[in-house]
Amino acid sequence: MVLLTPGPTPIHPRVQTALGKEMRGHLDPEVLATNRRIREHLNKLFDPGPGALLAAMPGSGSLGMEAGLTNLADEGDAVLLLVSGTFGERMVEIAHAYQFDYKVLRSEPGHPIDPQAVAEELKHRPYKLVALVHGETSTGVLNPVEEIAELVQAHGALFMLDAVTTAGMMPLSMQKLGIDYAFTGSQKCLSAPPGLAPFALSQRGRECLGQVRGWYSDLSRVAVYWEQEGYFCTSPVLLHYALEEALKLALEEGLENRQKRAELLYGTVLSLLEELGFSAYAAEGARLPTVLVVRPPQGLEEAEIRKGLYARGVSVAGGIGPTAGKVLRLGLMGESARPEHYRVFFKALGEVLGKSGLERAFEERLGLVAF
Ligand SMILES: *Cc1c(COP(=O)(O)O)cnc(C)c1O
Repeated sequence: MVLLTPGPTPIHPRVQTALGKEMRGHLDPEVLATNRRIREHLNKLFDPGPGALLAAMPGSGSLGMEAGLTNLADEGDAVLLLVSGTFGERMVEIAHAYQFDYKVLRSEPGHPIDPQAVAEELKHRPYKLVALVHGETSTGVLNPVEEIAELVQAHGALFMLDAVTTAGMMPLSMQKLGIDYAFTGSQKCLSAPPGLAPFALSQRGRECLGQVRGWYSDLSRVAVYWEQEGYFCTSPVLLHYALEEALKLALEEGLENRQKRAELLYGTVLSLLEELGFSAYAAEGARLPTVLVVRPPQGLEEAEIRKGLYARGVSVAGGIGPTAGKVLRLGLMGESARPEHYRVFFKALGEVLGKSGLERAFEERLGLVAF
């Protein structure tokens, strides 16, 4: 199966090999050495500045989200949530469950958060925490993190970034932008198996940890394992091996190069799809290069296309939240952003749509952008 969903992503043979290593204990010296190397790699991925906590929680990306919110805010704290789709709404659900005094600022589906609206809202009251999803997977929108980070920094609030669809595929500097907490999921842009939530918590974030942080998601307990190398919980060591290899691959290639790879393929795939009558869902100028969200041509159902592709060995996703039933979502994260996978995609799409020559048309266009 060619996995072109916006997570999980195909895994590299080197990562697959790491996953098959011999089982060891979570406090085995070899595993602890692996953890130290993972922290060094995460330091390059997030660039959180001195004194930061770097680790990977055992759980999916959503644990990274929940832990960020619950460690940085307490019941009754003023929290501003910037929402542009399903994953932003997930932050609202968490804020509701933990009874924060939260305010939600929403963008129109397919459009990014307007920094001007954020600036207006920040004038009204002091916020303890502002949270943003960098790349919204449900709509394929990339939010203007630099502009928003500047406003939050001037306001003095803590700033949390969901970097699930961007970290590992684009350069990010938490210390330059003033981000206190950023997280991702191992199965997205890093193309490791699902099951770990890598994150970075800045020195300032550590100093502002709230009073009630749960137990399993208490970041000070996570630090006991990752920094003091003591027992907190039994970590999935094979996933640690796989994550280390995936991080190495990402850093060997370079984050700028990975971003370029995704952008070139995004542009090529979208231009050919547009010729076939598909159209991008996200507004121009705010498109996330790692998730291509397209409306099908008029008269065609997304589900029909999706099922036709699946029957031919290509797995893509339909819409969720604001885009449910309306779009196809194609992953360009990590190992999914490879021309050979999209060659197979266009061959299958040609069969589904009854159009010949798509594979060749794709190859010709690719030749023009020089991979
Ligand atoms: C996938 C995703 C998540 C949640 O990750 P899970 O691993 O599915 O829990 C959070 N935010 C964004 C933007 C995502 O794409």
